[in-house]
Amino acid sequence: MNSRAPVIVVGGGPAGLAVAVGLALQDVAVAVYEVEPRLPRDLRAGSFHPPTLEMLDGIGVGQDFLALGYRVPRWQIRGRREGVIVEWDLSLIADLTPYPFRFHCEQFKLTPLLLKRFKTLGGTVHWQHRFLDAMQDGDGVAARFATPDGIETVYGSYLVGADGGRSTVRHAMNVAFEGFTWPERFLVAGIDRDLAPAGFTMNAYVSDPVDWSAIFKMPHDGPPGLWRVLFPTDAEVPEEQVLAADFVERALQNFLPWDRPYGVEHKSTYRVHQRVASDFRRGRMLLVGDAAHVNNPLGAFGLNGALHGAFNLVEKLGPVWRGEAPETALDRYVRQRRAANIEFVQAQSIRNKELLQERDPAIRIRRLGELRRTAADRASHKAYLVKSSMIWSVQRATEVE
Ligand SMILES: Cc1cc2nc3c(=O)[nH]c(=O)nc-3n(C[C@H](O)[C@H](O)[C@H](O)COP(=O)(O)OP(=O)(O)OC[C@H]3O[C@@H](n4cnc5c(N)ncnc54)[C@H](O)[C@@H]3O)c2cc1C
Repeated sequence: MNSRAPVIVVGGGPAGLAVAVGLALQDVAVAVYEVEPRLPRDLRAGSFHPPTLEMLDGIGVGQDFLALGYRVPRWQIRGRREGVIVEWDLSLIADLTPYPFRFHCEQFKLTPLLLKRFKTLGGTVHWQHRFLDAMQDGDGVAARFATPDGIETVYGSYLVGADGGRSTVRHAMNVAFEGFTWPERFLVAGIDRDLAPAGFTMNAYVSDPVDWSAIFKMPHDGPPGLWRVLFPTDAEVPEEQVLAADFVERALQNFLPWDRPYGVEHKSTYRVHQRVASDFRRGRMLLVGDAAHVNNPLGAFGLNGALHGAFNLVEKLGPVWRGEAPETALDRYVRQRRAANIEFVQAQSIRNKELLQERDPAIRIRRLGELRRTAADRASHKAYLVKSSMIWSVQRATEVE
Protein backbone atom coordinates (compact mmCIF):
# COMPACT_ATOMS: atom_id res chain seq x y z
CA MET A 1 0.00 0.00 0.00
CA ASN A 2 1.06 3.56 -0.69
CA SER A 3 2.51 4.88 2.58
CA ARG A 4 1.06 8.26 1.61
CA ALA A 5 -2.44 6.81 1.77
CA PRO A 6 -4.68 8.94 4.01
CA VAL A 7 -4.53 8.80 7.76
CA ILE A 8 -7.82 7.34 9.02
CA VAL A 9 -9.14 9.18 12.08
CA VAL A 10 -11.88 7.27 13.91
CA GLY A 11 -14.13 9.65 15.88
CA GLY A 12 -15.23 13.19 15.15
CA GLY A 13 -15.02 14.46 18.73
CA PRO A 14 -12.67 17.27 19.75
CA ALA A 15 -9.54 15.06 19.77
CA GLY A 16 -10.25 13.47 16.39
CA LEU A 17 -11.11 16.77 14.71
CA ALA A 18 -8.03 18.48 16.22
CA VAL A 19 -5.84 15.68 14.84
CA ALA A 20 -7.53 16.02 11.45
CA VAL A 21 -7.04 19.81 11.30
CA GLY A 22 -3.44 19.54 12.55
CA LEU A 23 -2.57 16.96 9.89
CA ALA A 24 -4.42 18.77 7.09
CA LEU A 25 -2.44 21.92 7.93
CA GLN A 26 0.71 19.89 7.22
CA ASP A 27 -0.75 18.73 3.87
CA VAL A 28 -1.15 15.19 5.19
CA ALA A 29 -4.04 13.33 3.53
CA VAL A 30 -6.56 12.59 6.29
CA ALA A 31 -10.20 11.58 6.59
CA VAL A 32 -12.47 11.34 9.65
CA TYR A 33 -14.98 8.53 10.23
CA GLU A 34 -17.72 9.26 12.78
CA VAL A 35 -20.51 6.93 13.85
CA GLU A 36 -23.09 9.69 14.41
CA PRO A 37 -24.94 11.38 11.53
CA ARG A 38 -23.75 14.82 12.75
CA LEU A 39 -21.67 16.38 15.53
CA PRO A 40 -22.97 15.31 18.96
CA ARG A 41 -24.41 18.18 21.03
CA ASP A 42 -24.24 16.56 24.48
CA LEU A 43 -23.19 18.45 27.60
CA ARG A 44 -19.69 17.55 28.66
CA ALA A 45 -16.49 19.45 29.36
CA GLY A 46 -16.44 23.22 29.22
CA SER A 47 -13.38 24.61 31.02
CA PHE A 48 -10.30 25.32 28.93
CA HIS A 49 -6.77 26.04 30.16
CA PRO A 50 -4.25 28.54 28.70
CA PRO A 51 -2.03 26.03 26.78
CA THR A 52 -5.13 24.62 25.05
CA LEU A 53 -6.19 28.10 23.94
CA GLU A 54 -2.69 28.71 22.59
CA MET A 55 -2.84 25.41 20.65
CA LEU A 56 -6.28 26.24 19.23
CA ASP A 57 -4.92 29.61 18.19
CA GLY A 58 -2.10 27.80 16.38
CA ILE A 59 -4.59 26.02 14.09
CA GLY A 60 -6.67 29.13 13.47
CA VAL A 61 -9.75 28.54 15.62
CA GLY A 62 -8.67 30.19 18.89
CA GLN A 63 -10.06 33.67 18.29
CA ASP A 64 -13.46 32.48 17.02
CA PHE A 65 -13.70 30.21 20.03
CA LEU A 66 -12.77 32.98 22.48
CA ALA A 67 -15.69 35.03 21.16
CA LEU A 68 -18.15 32.34 22.33
CA GLY A 69 -17.45 31.99 26.04
CA TYR A 70 -16.43 33.49 29.37
CA ARG A 71 -12.94 34.40 30.54
CA VAL A 72 -12.53 33.28 34.13
CA PRO A 73 -9.58 35.15 35.65
CA ARG A 74 -10.11 33.94 39.24
CA TRP A 75 -11.39 30.69 40.71
CA GLN A 76 -11.99 29.49 44.23
CA ILE A 77 -11.58 26.55 46.52
CA ARG A 78 -14.25 26.83 49.19
CA GLY A 79 -15.47 24.93 52.19
CA ARG A 80 -19.19 24.35 52.41
CA ARG A 81 -19.29 25.81 55.89
CA GLU A 82 -16.15 27.98 55.76
CA GLY A 83 -16.86 29.84 52.48
CA VAL A 84 -13.82 30.90 50.47
CA ILE A 85 -10.61 29.08 51.46
CA VAL A 86 -8.49 30.44 48.59
CA GLU A 87 -9.12 32.48 45.48
CA TRP A 88 -6.57 31.87 42.72
CA ASP A 89 -5.63 34.86 40.57
CA LEU A 90 -4.50 33.90 37.08
CA SER A 91 -3.15 37.38 36.36
CA LEU A 92 -0.02 36.06 38.10
CA ILE A 93 0.78 33.93 35.04
CA ALA A 94 0.29 36.77 32.53
CA ASP A 95 4.04 36.65 31.79
CA LEU A 96 3.75 32.97 30.77
CA THR A 97 0.73 32.96 28.48
CA PRO A 98 -1.31 35.38 26.38
CA TYR A 99 -4.40 33.76 27.97
CA PRO A 100 -4.08 34.15 31.76
CA PHE A 101 -7.55 32.80 32.53
CA ARG A 102 -9.67 29.69 32.37
CA PHE A 103 -12.08 29.84 29.50
CA HIS A 104 -15.60 28.51 29.84
CA CYS A 105 -17.50 27.34 26.80
CA GLU A 106 -19.39 24.15 26.05
CA GLN A 107 -17.37 21.50 24.23
CA PHE A 108 -20.09 21.20 21.58
CA LYS A 109 -19.39 24.80 20.52
CA LEU A 110 -15.73 23.99 19.81
CA THR A 111 -16.31 20.98 17.56
CA PRO A 112 -18.25 22.92 14.86
CA LEU A 113 -15.32 25.37 14.65
CA LEU A 114 -12.86 22.49 14.24
CA LEU A 115 -15.12 20.87 11.64
CA LYS A 116 -15.45 24.11 9.69
CA ARG A 117 -11.67 24.58 9.75
CA PHE A 118 -11.13 21.00 8.57
CA LYS A 119 -13.58 21.52 5.70
CA THR A 120 -11.90 24.77 4.60
CA LEU A 121 -8.68 22.75 4.37
CA GLY A 122 -10.44 20.30 2.04
CA GLY A 123 -11.10 17.62 4.67
CA THR A 124 -14.00 15.16 4.67
CA VAL A 125 -15.92 13.60 7.54
CA HIS A 126 -17.64 10.31 6.71
CA TRP A 127 -20.73 10.32 8.93
CA GLN A 128 -22.59 7.20 10.05
CA HIS A 129 -19.44 5.12 9.83
CA ARG A 130 -19.03 2.86 12.84
CA PHE A 131 -15.53 1.47 13.18
CA LEU A 132 -15.64 -2.31 13.58
CA ASP A 133 -12.08 -3.63 13.39
CA ALA A 134 -8.84 -3.32 11.45
CA MET A 135 -5.95 -5.35 10.06
CA GLN A 136 -2.50 -3.91 9.56
CA ASP A 137 0.83 -4.85 8.03
CA GLY A 138 4.09 -2.97 7.52
CA ASP A 139 2.58 -0.84 4.76
CA GLY A 140 -0.81 0.25 6.06
CA VAL A 141 -4.10 -0.39 7.78
CA ALA A 142 -7.38 -1.77 6.42
CA ALA A 143 -10.29 -0.68 8.62
CA ARG A 144 -13.86 -1.96 8.43
CA PHE A 145 -16.83 0.32 9.08
CA ALA A 146 -20.52 -0.42 9.35
CA THR A 147 -22.39 2.15 7.25
CA PRO A 148 -26.05 2.56 6.22
CA ASP A 149 -25.00 0.99 2.88
CA GLY A 150 -23.32 -2.03 4.45
CA ILE A 151 -19.76 -2.86 5.50
CA GLU A 152 -17.08 -0.67 3.95
CA THR A 153 -13.33 -1.35 4.05
CA VAL A 154 -11.09 1.69 4.06
CA TYR A 155 -7.35 1.59 3.45
CA GLY A 156 -5.00 4.05 5.12
CA SER A 157 -1.38 4.60 6.03
CA TYR A 158 -2.11 5.02 9.77
CA LEU A 159 -5.23 4.85 11.92
CA VAL A 160 -5.84 7.18 14.86
CA GLY A 161 -8.41 5.98 17.40
CA ALA A 162 -10.12 9.10 18.76
CA ASP A 163 -13.36 7.25 19.49
CA GLY A 164 -13.77 8.14 23.15
CA GLY A 165 -13.59 6.30 26.47
CA ARG A 166 -15.28 3.12 25.23
CA SER A 167 -12.94 3.02 22.23
CA THR A 168 -13.48 0.13 19.81
CA VAL A 169 -10.10 0.96 18.28
CA ARG A 170 -8.46 0.34 21.67
CA HIS A 171 -10.16 -3.08 21.80
CA ALA A 172 -9.05 -3.83 18.25
CA MET A 173 -5.48 -2.97 19.30
CA ASN A 174 -5.85 -5.36 22.23
CA VAL A 175 -4.64 -2.72 24.67
CA ALA A 176 -5.67 -2.75 28.34
CA PHE A 177 -7.37 0.29 29.94
CA GLU A 178 -5.72 0.26 33.33
CA GLY A 179 -7.12 2.04 36.37
CA PHE A 180 -10.35 2.21 38.34
CA THR A 181 -13.89 3.59 38.44
CA TRP A 182 -15.02 5.88 41.28
CA PRO A 183 -17.90 4.51 43.35
CA GLU A 184 -20.15 7.57 42.97
CA ARG A 185 -22.34 8.72 40.13
CA PHE A 186 -21.95 12.43 39.33
CA LEU A 187 -25.06 14.58 38.97
CA VAL A 188 -24.84 17.84 37.00
CA ALA A 189 -27.60 20.45 37.13
CA GLY A 190 -27.81 23.68 35.15
CA ILE A 191 -29.70 26.16 37.33
CA ASP A 192 -31.48 29.49 36.96
CA ARG A 193 -29.89 31.07 40.06
CA ASP A 194 -27.04 33.57 39.64
CA LEU A 195 -24.40 32.45 42.15
CA ALA A 196 -22.23 35.59 41.83
CA PRO A 197 -24.18 37.58 44.49
CA ALA A 198 -23.49 34.66 46.88
CA GLY A 199 -19.76 35.24 46.31
CA PHE A 200 -18.99 32.44 43.85
CA THR A 201 -16.44 32.95 41.08
CA MET A 202 -17.42 31.42 37.72
CA ASN A 203 -15.42 28.32 38.65
CA ALA A 204 -15.36 27.07 42.22
CA TYR A 205 -14.71 23.79 44.02
CA VAL A 206 -16.52 23.31 47.30
CA SER A 207 -15.04 20.88 49.80
CA ASP A 208 -17.17 18.93 52.24
CA PRO A 209 -16.80 15.48 53.81
CA VAL A 210 -20.21 14.46 52.39
CA ASP A 211 -21.67 17.09 50.08
CA TRP A 212 -18.72 18.42 48.09
CA SER A 213 -19.51 20.08 44.75
CA ALA A 214 -18.02 21.89 41.77
CA ILE A 215 -19.38 25.01 40.05
CA PHE A 216 -18.93 26.19 36.46
CA LYS A 217 -20.66 29.17 34.90
CA MET A 218 -21.21 28.42 31.22
CA PRO A 219 -22.37 30.74 28.42
CA HIS A 220 -25.29 28.39 27.54
CA ASP A 221 -27.40 30.12 24.86
CA GLY A 222 -25.78 33.50 25.59
CA PRO A 223 -26.00 36.12 28.36
CA PRO A 224 -26.61 35.82 31.28
CA GLY A 225 -25.27 32.25 31.01
CA LEU A 226 -26.03 29.27 33.16
CA TRP A 227 -24.45 28.02 36.38
CA ARG A 228 -23.71 24.30 36.40
CA VAL A 229 -23.41 22.52 39.75
CA LEU A 230 -21.90 19.05 40.03
CA PHE A 231 -22.57 16.74 43.00
CA PRO A 232 -21.55 13.21 43.87
CA THR A 233 -24.46 10.80 44.39
CA ASP A 234 -24.59 7.24 45.63
CA ALA A 235 -24.28 4.87 42.64
CA GLU A 236 -26.58 2.44 44.49
CA VAL A 237 -29.47 4.91 44.10
CA PRO A 238 -31.12 4.25 40.72
CA GLU A 239 -30.43 6.89 38.06
CA GLU A 240 -34.16 7.72 37.58
CA GLN A 241 -34.34 8.56 41.27
CA VAL A 242 -31.24 10.79 41.12
CA LEU A 243 -32.70 12.65 38.15
CA ALA A 244 -36.15 13.06 39.78
CA ALA A 245 -37.11 16.72 40.32
CA ASP A 246 -37.43 16.43 44.12
CA PHE A 247 -34.02 14.73 44.47
CA VAL A 248 -32.29 17.45 42.42
CA GLU A 249 -34.15 20.22 44.31
CA ARG A 250 -33.08 18.72 47.67
CA ALA A 251 -29.47 18.53 46.51
CA LEU A 252 -29.54 22.16 45.37
CA GLN A 253 -31.23 23.49 48.53
CA ASN A 254 -28.71 21.50 50.56
CA PHE A 255 -25.87 23.06 48.54
CA LEU A 256 -27.18 26.63 48.85
CA PRO A 257 -30.58 27.24 50.46
CA TRP A 258 -32.89 29.51 48.47
CA ASP A 259 -36.30 30.92 49.41
CA ARG A 260 -37.84 29.57 46.22
CA PRO A 261 -37.50 26.38 44.19
CA TYR A 262 -34.56 26.21 41.82
CA GLY A 263 -35.37 26.20 38.11
CA VAL A 264 -33.35 23.38 36.56
CA GLU A 265 -32.62 23.85 32.85
CA HIS A 266 -30.90 20.52 32.43
CA LYS A 267 -29.69 17.62 34.50
CA SER A 268 -27.60 14.58 33.70
CA THR A 269 -25.56 11.93 35.44
CA TYR A 270 -22.35 10.09 34.63
CA ARG A 271 -19.85 7.66 36.11
CA VAL A 272 -16.23 8.71 36.37
CA HIS A 273 -13.09 6.69 35.77
CA GLN A 274 -9.33 7.07 36.15
CA ARG A 275 -7.80 4.95 33.40
CA VAL A 276 -4.82 5.04 31.05
CA ALA A 277 -4.27 2.71 28.08
CA SER A 278 -1.29 0.41 28.64
CA ASP A 279 0.08 1.60 25.29
CA PHE A 280 -1.07 4.27 22.83
CA ARG A 281 0.46 2.55 19.77
CA ARG A 282 0.35 -0.81 18.04
CA GLY A 283 2.29 -0.46 14.79
CA ARG A 284 0.27 1.86 12.57
CA MET A 285 -2.62 2.23 14.97
CA LEU A 286 -2.57 4.98 17.62
CA LEU A 287 -4.83 6.18 20.41
CA VAL A 288 -5.57 9.77 21.40
CA GLY A 289 -7.98 11.62 23.72
CA ASP A 290 -10.43 9.71 25.90
CA ALA A 291 -9.62 6.54 23.95
CA ALA A 292 -6.16 6.76 25.55
CA HIS A 293 -7.00 8.15 29.01
CA VAL A 294 -9.93 9.25 31.15
CA ASN A 295 -10.09 11.06 34.49
CA ASN A 296 -12.50 12.77 36.86
CA PRO A 297 -13.54 16.34 35.92
CA LEU A 298 -12.12 18.05 39.05
CA GLY A 299 -9.48 20.36 37.62
CA ALA A 300 -10.82 20.22 34.04
CA PHE A 301 -8.01 18.09 32.68
CA GLY A 302 -9.97 15.59 30.51
CA LEU A 303 -10.73 17.50 27.36
CA ASN A 304 -7.66 19.73 27.74
CA GLY A 305 -5.41 16.66 28.05
CA ALA A 306 -7.16 15.09 25.05
CA LEU A 307 -6.34 18.15 22.95
CA HIS A 308 -2.75 18.37 24.23
CA GLY A 309 -2.31 14.75 23.13
CA ALA A 310 -3.87 15.48 19.73
CA PHE A 311 -1.46 18.34 19.04
CA ASN A 312 1.53 16.34 20.26
CA LEU A 313 0.56 13.44 17.97
CA VAL A 314 0.22 15.55 14.82
CA GLU A 315 3.67 17.05 15.44
CA LYS A 316 5.13 13.53 15.18
CA LEU A 317 2.76 11.88 12.68
CA GLY A 318 3.05 14.60 10.02
CA PRO A 319 6.83 14.17 9.51
CA VAL A 320 6.56 10.37 9.78
CA TRP A 321 3.84 10.31 7.10
CA ARG A 322 5.98 12.47 4.78
CA GLY A 323 8.95 10.15 5.32
CA GLU A 324 10.96 12.89 7.05
CA ALA A 325 11.09 11.21 10.46
CA PRO A 326 11.42 7.57 11.53
CA GLU A 327 8.37 5.72 12.84
CA THR A 328 10.02 5.67 16.26
CA ALA A 329 8.94 9.33 16.57
CA LEU A 330 5.48 7.90 17.24
CA ASP A 331 6.81 6.11 20.32
CA ARG A 332 7.98 9.49 21.56
CA TYR A 333 4.39 10.70 21.34
CA VAL A 334 3.40 7.71 23.46
CA ARG A 335 6.13 8.27 26.05
CA GLN A 336 5.49 12.00 26.29
CA ARG A 337 1.74 11.87 26.61
CA ARG A 338 1.61 8.81 28.87
CA ALA A 339 4.06 10.60 31.19
CA ALA A 340 2.03 13.84 31.15
CA ASN A 341 -1.16 11.92 31.82
CA ILE A 342 0.10 9.60 34.53
CA GLU A 343 2.37 12.08 36.35
CA PHE A 344 0.01 15.04 36.19
CA VAL A 345 -3.55 14.46 34.96
CA GLN A 346 -4.21 11.23 36.84
CA ALA A 347 -2.28 12.18 39.99
CA GLN A 348 -3.65 15.73 40.25
CA SER A 349 -7.29 14.93 39.41
CA ILE A 350 -7.25 12.19 42.07
CA ARG A 351 -5.67 14.62 44.60
CA ASN A 352 -8.28 17.28 43.71
CA LYS A 353 -11.11 14.86 44.39
CA GLU A 354 -9.55 13.63 47.62
CA LEU A 355 -9.13 17.20 48.82
CA LEU A 356 -12.79 18.01 48.22
CA GLN A 357 -14.17 14.87 49.86
CA GLU A 358 -11.70 14.48 52.76
CA ARG A 359 -13.59 13.03 55.74
CA ASP A 360 -10.91 13.08 58.42
CA PRO A 361 -11.31 16.50 60.14
CA ALA A 362 -7.62 16.75 61.08
CA ILE A 363 -6.38 15.96 57.55
CA ARG A 364 -8.99 18.28 56.09
CA ILE A 365 -7.92 21.20 58.28
CA ARG A 366 -4.25 20.53 57.49
CA ARG A 367 -4.82 20.41 53.71
CA LEU A 368 -6.97 23.52 53.63
CA GLY A 369 -4.35 25.28 55.76
CA GLU A 370 -1.62 24.28 53.27
CA LEU A 371 -3.70 25.74 50.46
CA ARG A 372 -4.15 29.02 52.34
CA ARG A 373 -0.39 29.28 52.88
CA THR A 374 0.28 28.47 49.21
CA ALA A 375 -2.11 31.19 48.08
CA ALA A 376 -0.77 33.75 50.55
CA ASP A 377 2.75 33.66 49.10
CA ARG A 378 3.07 35.16 45.62
CA ALA A 379 5.72 32.70 44.34
CA SER A 380 3.95 29.57 45.57
CA HIS A 381 0.57 30.97 44.37
CA LYS A 382 2.09 31.34 40.89
CA ALA A 383 3.71 27.88 41.02
CA TYR A 384 0.32 26.38 41.92
CA LEU A 385 -1.26 28.10 38.90
CA VAL A 386 1.49 26.89 36.55
CA LYS A 387 0.51 23.33 37.49
CA SER A 388 -3.27 23.68 37.78
CA SER A 389 -3.39 25.55 34.43
CA MET A 390 -1.57 22.60 32.79
CA ILE A 391 1.40 24.72 31.71
CA TRP A 392 3.74 22.43 33.65
CA SER A 393 2.39 19.16 32.19
CA VAL A 394 2.71 20.38 28.59
CA GLN A 395 6.27 21.52 29.31
CA ARG A 396 7.09 18.29 31.15
CA ALA A 397 5.94 16.20 28.17
CA THR A 398 8.39 17.95 25.85
CA GLU A 399 11.24 17.02 28.20
CA VAL A 400 10.53 13.28 27.87
CA GLU A 401 12.76 11.75 25.19
C1 LIG B 1 -20.99 12.63 30.24
C2 LIG B 1 -19.62 13.23 30.21
C3 LIG B 1 -19.36 14.39 30.92
C4 LIG B 1 -18.09 14.96 30.92
N1 LIG B 1 -17.85 16.08 31.65
C5 LIG B 1 -16.60 16.58 31.67
C6 LIG B 1 -16.28 17.73 32.43
O1 LIG B 1 -17.14 18.31 33.10
N2 LIG B 1 -15.00 18.20 32.43
C7 LIG B 1 -14.00 17.57 31.70
O2 LIG B 1 -12.83 18.02 31.69
N3 LIG B 1 -14.28 16.50 30.96
C8 LIG B 1 -15.53 15.99 30.93
N4 LIG B 1 -15.79 14.91 30.18
C9 LIG B 1 -14.72 14.37 29.36
C10 LIG B 1 -14.58 15.12 28.05
O3 LIG B 1 -15.84 15.38 27.51
C11 LIG B 1 -13.70 14.28 27.14
O4 LIG B 1 -12.40 14.29 27.72
C12 LIG B 1 -13.66 14.72 25.70
O5 LIG B 1 -14.91 14.62 25.09
C13 LIG B 1 -12.63 13.87 24.96
O6 LIG B 1 -12.72 14.09 23.59
P1 LIG B 1 -12.49 12.89 22.58
O7 LIG B 1 -12.55 13.52 21.23
O8 LIG B 1 -11.28 12.13 22.97
O9 LIG B 1 -13.70 11.88 22.81
P2 LIG B 1 -15.29 12.09 22.55
O10 LIG B 1 -15.67 13.51 22.77
O11 LIG B 1 -15.94 11.03 23.35
O12 LIG B 1 -15.43 11.80 20.99
C14 LIG B 1 -15.39 10.50 20.48
C15 LIG B 1 -16.12 10.47 19.14
O13 LIG B 1 -15.98 9.18 18.57
C16 LIG B 1 -17.23 8.75 18.08
N5 LIG B 1 -17.21 7.26 18.09
C17 LIG B 1 -17.31 6.45 19.15
N6 LIG B 1 -17.22 5.17 18.77
C18 LIG B 1 -17.05 5.18 17.42
C19 LIG B 1 -16.89 4.17 16.45
N7 LIG B 1 -16.88 2.86 16.77
N8 LIG B 1 -16.74 4.53 15.15
C20 LIG B 1 -16.73 5.83 14.79
N9 LIG B 1 -16.89 6.86 15.68
C21 LIG B 1 -17.04 6.52 16.97
C22 LIG B 1 -18.24 9.36 19.04
O14 LIG B 1 -19.53 9.44 18.46
C23 LIG B 1 -17.61 10.72 19.30
O15 LIG B 1 -18.03 11.69 18.37
C24 LIG B 1 -17.06 14.33 30.18
C25 LIG B 1 -17.32 13.16 29.46
C26 LIG B 1 -18.58 12.60 29.48
C27 LIG B 1 -18.82 11.32 28.72
